[in-house]
Amino acid sequence: MSHFVVIGAGQAGASLVAKLRKDGFEGEITLIGAEPVVPYQRPPLSKAYLLGDMALERLYLRPENFYGDQNVTLRLGQTVTAIDPAAKTVTVGDEVIAYDQLALTTGSDPRRLPAAIGGDLKGVFTVRTLADVDAMAPYVVEEKRVLIVGGGYIGLEAAAVAAKRGVKVTLVEMADRILQRVAAPETSDYFRKLHGGHGVDIREGVGLDRLTGTDGHVTGAVLSDGSELDLDFVVVGVGIAPATGLAELAGLEIDNGIKTDSLGQTSDPSIWAAGDCASFPHGDGRLRLESVPNAIDQAECVAGNMLGAEVGYVPKPWFWSDQYDVKLQIAGLNTGFDRIVTRPGEGSSVSYWYFKGPQLLAVDAMNDPRAYMIGKRLIDAGKTADPDVIADPAADLKALMRA
Ligand SMILES: Cc1cc2nc3c(=O)[nH]c(=O)nc-3n(C[C@H](O)[C@H](O)[C@H](O)COP(=O)(O)OP(=O)(O)OC[C@H]3O[C@@H](n4cnc5c(N)ncnc54)[C@H](O)[C@@H]3O)c2cc1C
Repeated sequence: MSHFVVIGAGQAGASLVAKLRKDGFEGEITLIGAEPVVPYQRPPLSKAYLLGDMALERLYLRPENFYGDQNVTLRLGQTVTAIDPAAKTVTVGDEVIAYDQLALTTGSDPRRLPAAIGGDLKGVFTVRTLADVDAMAPYVVEEKRVLIVGGGYIGLEAAAVAAKRGVKVTLVEMADRILQRVAAPETSDYFRKLHGGHGVDIREGVGLDRLTGTDGHVTGAVLSDGSELDLDFVVVGVGIAPATGLAELAGLEIDNGIKTDSLGQTSDPSIWAAGDCASFPHGDGRLRLESVPNAIDQAECVAGNMLGAEVGYVPKPWFWSDQYDVKLQIAGLNTGFDRIVTRPGEGSSVSYWYFKGPQLLAVDAMNDPRAYMIGKRLIDAGKTADPDVIADPAADLKALMRA
């Protein structure tokens, strides 16, 4: 009987094994995960779960009995240390497991602060795993003081939760503005104002020089502008790197992630990759996405291709972020935009539409699900939109769909 092995029991790995069974694969499936928990969703880790508003079981992507019911061997708390593509085996501890086809869904690793500037002090947290957040939770209480390093989505979401819990929050962003890597100045302005209104002290163009500590625990920080802070804990949200170490060791090609073709096949025809760790062909170049929708869609596409479907992966990017009572929904990819059109909505809702020349690329919609939905449909269909209609709050967006 054919044996498919999947390394990485996260969002993509769980989706991949479920789709293999859904598509009728009757062979053996083994899903191996380094974390000691059944596959769970990460987005609530910096949102409802950190806030204490969500029970652990609700994080699970599928009920615990799903894997047994589907005849999937789930090996949790076990790290694969080597792949031998010639022998078609993987090594876990002292055990060597043979595969017919292998999928890598190893996700990504958070960037950490170097130990030389205090990154190894106690009370310094990254936000990637359930264990990270469970360790941080006792600090996220009234009167504590936190420094958040990095003004991307993870840092801002952590800031929102901490502020809601009565923590005194300072956030530093080395770039000129928060969200610089991912959004237009308009979106940065919106979230800066939102956080300011909740008492978060956002300092842009300011980096961290070093952390200071007493008895091995962080107690303060010196910032790049020379200012000093007294602290109880630190949250590091300075980005992630695709988890490619295992693939590199196995001699697979790497290009900002594990390099795949449009089917998800790596440079070894029996090995596939999906999710945060995979870079795939897109337009004239390559793309690697760090999002739940991508992890699911790509993993499902790859599962089909492991069974011979031969369908190229076409991403339909979307993303969301929750901060206070604002839901940000993003459709498309804004890379290369040269114009932003603002559509005011009701109350605090607004959407920013990104164009490159006449082409609509992406939409950031704050508390405006309708603008998001219409923008997404247009982008997914490869259509564009009339900027004058978008900018006119009295104009019906639905007209854009008919154009
Ligand atoms: C705090 C947080 C908030 C987020 N919020 C959003 C959001 O709002 N919207 C959104 O779209 N996305 C969000 N994301 C991103 C999203 O969660 C990821 O893009 C998604 O989880 C990627 O899925 P994946 O399966 O590729 O990787 P992961 O879910 O990270 O799974 C990879 C798994 O592989 C395991 N692994 C790695 N190497 C090995 C090995 N050698 N042996 C065994 N196991 C191994 C890892 O331990 C890990 O469990 C968020 C992420 C975080 C951390």
